[in-house]
Amino acid sequence: MIGAVTGVVVLVILVVVVIMSVGSARSYGIERIARCRAGHLFTSTVIPGASIKAVRLGNVRFQRCPVGHHWSLVSWVDPSTLTPEELAAARSRHDIRLP
Ligand SMILES: [Zn+2]
Repeated sequence: MIGAVTGVVVLVILVVVVIMSVGSARSYGIERIARCRAGHLFTSTVIPGASIKAVRLGNVRFQRCPVGHHWSLVSWVDPSTLTPEELAAARSRHDIRLP
C-alpha cells in the first residue's frame, strides 16, 4: 500500500519536472531568421545543443519549411541583410515552437 502511494507521488513529481523543463527550454530558446533553399523566410526557435525537429549539418539544417510546406536545407540569415519587408514576412511565419 505504501509502495503504491510512493510510486504515484514519484510519478507526479516526474511529470511536473518534465513539464517545467519543457517550459524553461521554450523561454531559453533563441528566435532566428532562417531561409530555405526555395528562398522562403521564416522564424525558427533555436536552443543550443538541442534539436528534435531538424537534422543539423553544421550551419545548415534539414527541416520542414512552414512557408512552402516542404522539407528543405535551411540556413540562418543575418537580419541586418534583409529589407524591413522581408524581416516582417520572416517574423510573421514561425515553424513549430520546438528546438
Ligand atoms: Zn520553403
